[in-house]
Amino acid sequence: MRIDLHTHSNCSDGTDTPAELICAAREAGLDVVGLVDHDTVTGWGEATAAVKGSGLSLVRGMEVTAKAGDVSVHILAYLFDPENDWVVGHMEALQKSRAGRAREMVERLATDFDVTWEDVLEASASSTTIGRPHIADALVARGIVADRTEAFDRLIHPGTPYYVKQYAPQAVDVVRGIAGAGGKTVWAHPWAAKRGRVAPIETFGELAAAGLFGVEVDHRDNPVQTRGDLADIVEELGLARFGSSDYHGTGKPNSLGEYTTSPEVFECLIQGTYAEVVS
Ligand code: AMP
Ligand code: ZN
Ligand code: FE
Ligand code: FE
Repeated sequence: MRIDLHTHSNCSDGTDTPAELICAAREAGLDVVGLVDHDTVTGWGEATAAVKGSGLSLVRGMEVTAKAGDVSVHILAYLFDPENDWVVGHMEALQKSRAGRAREMVERLATDFDVTWEDVLEASASSTTIGRPHIADALVARGIVADRTEAFDRLIHPGTPYYVKQYAPQAVDVVRGIAGAGGKTVWAHPWAAKRGRVAPIETFGELAAAGLFGVEVDHRDNPVQTRGDLADIVEELGLARFGSSDYHGTGKPNSLGEYTTSPEVFECLIQGTYAEVVS
């Protein structure tokens, strides 16, 4: 069984449509794929239709933008009720905040570069959630940078004058909110240092106490030499160890199934959740 529970479609900042993603997951030899677009569930319907009869199983989820104290973190949420009040409120708040923040970033960039808000709207046309990758795509389309990586490295990382923060709920509240919606949560890439500051070590215990189910240990952004320590923390706290690709289509080099989650952890994840695995 090959299980990759962290992928994105073009309903957020991936480049495959949900149907294309399902097709790519089959071609990559996966048995189970998880779709977790950022702060939206708009891809669930198309992915569900595409997966029926394909031999592949789909886990529906969402990558929730959150923070631990003032450090940005991502929480993977799985198999929750998408119509739950907390979930709907979160998605609406993030969509609104993300759009305002992206607009502000483009205004700042436009003082130095030939890029417009219309460019970003075009780059994000398929997506419910506007993010920095779409600003990056607009900069690429204008020939200002070669690719998303260069855009992040040079112009839109938090150390630049163009970066603007967005609203995010506290991670403990996300863990509780998703549990209240019948889902389970996994802390994504906790030691992804190259994305910015990482959350303090106490965060593991705090999230575990709030009901966190697992932690993504095997992920390319957690430095290899730290994964042993990460695995120890996870085991001590009785959390489940996850591994996944964070596939974004052509938006990132991450390839489907480059890291996977064990069948034992998967079986445990899907017990007692609001939503079912579809196949
Ligand atoms: P945002 O939530 O709008 O701040 O954007 C963060 C998103 O950008 C995350 O989904 C990351 O996967 C993506 N991202 C971060 N760094 C890079 C990079 N160097 N190249 C492509 N995508 C990136
Ligand atoms: Zn992303
Ligand atoms: Fe993430
Ligand atoms: Fe992700």
